Amino acid sequence: MSIQVIGANKRYGDFAALDNVSIDIPDGQLTSLLGPSGSGKSTLLRAIAGLDTLDSGIVRINDNDVSQKSPQKRDIGFVFQHYAAFKHLTVRENIAFGLKIRKRPKKEVDAKVDQLLEVVGLTVFQKRFPAQLSGGQRQRMALARALAVDPKVLLLDEPFGALDAKVRDDLRRWLRRLHEEVHVTTVLVTHDQQEALDVSDRIAVLNKGRIEQVGTPDDLYDRPANEFVASFLGSTV
Ligand code: ADP
Ligand code: MG
Repeated sequence: MSIQVIGANKRYGDFAALDNVSIDIPDGQLTSLLGPSGSGKSTLLRAIAGLDTLDSGIVRINDNDVSQKSPQKRDIGFVFQHYAAFKHLTVRENIAFGLKIRKRPKKEVDAKVDQLLEVVGLTVFQKRFPAQLSGGQRQRMALARALAVDPKVLLLDEPFGALDAKVRDDLRRWLRRLHEEVHVTTVLVTHDQQEALDVSDRIAVLNKGRIEQVGTPDDLYDRPANEFVASFLGSTV
């Protein structure tokens, strides 16, 4: 499913968190929203999700205007940096949760959960509780849970931000492989240039509530649109 944001504005008092932002997010790709802290990445992601309302502007998913629709009606999976797992449920039960509340038949739930446990590499840990997992394993569980209900769109807000560098690196590679398997339209928020360059089909660079440039990692690296993009991509975290 493609996503279009057209003329999005969001102010907090006098401050423009989003300043007339428009972006086309193509179907089946992994697009990163990259920019420094406070540049409006999460605000844009939340607007796509329907968790925040815009002051003005339109969000379309698969050519339908969803601007007035609740998050539940937008058919979206989310993963945030600090993922709240159900502590009293096992890994398997956490992944199955969304399917169970949708009252899917047990056979279907079991088959889907088995498949997802394989995909995220947690089959052997399925009877553990979240507290018995590493941070990286917990985020993989979060992704499996988000994917369980076959969302049209997957939105990830700094999902690896709280993890240490080595685990983050492994998870990036893993996310890229996962994306190549499931091909769900994915939007990843990150302030980490390397992460965006490593995993994305396309990157949108944000600065002060505006989009500076959208392109492939090669486009941005070889042909930065301006000084900001050049220096932001060239700097290290
Ligand atoms: P990013 O995710 O790129 O770090 P955000 O989208 O979270 O940035 O925020 C963009 C700007 O909007 C920041 O300066 C932030 O302080 C401000 N902002 C975000 N949410 C609120 C809010 N609920 N109230 C006031 N200001 C906010
Ligand atoms: Mg943010």
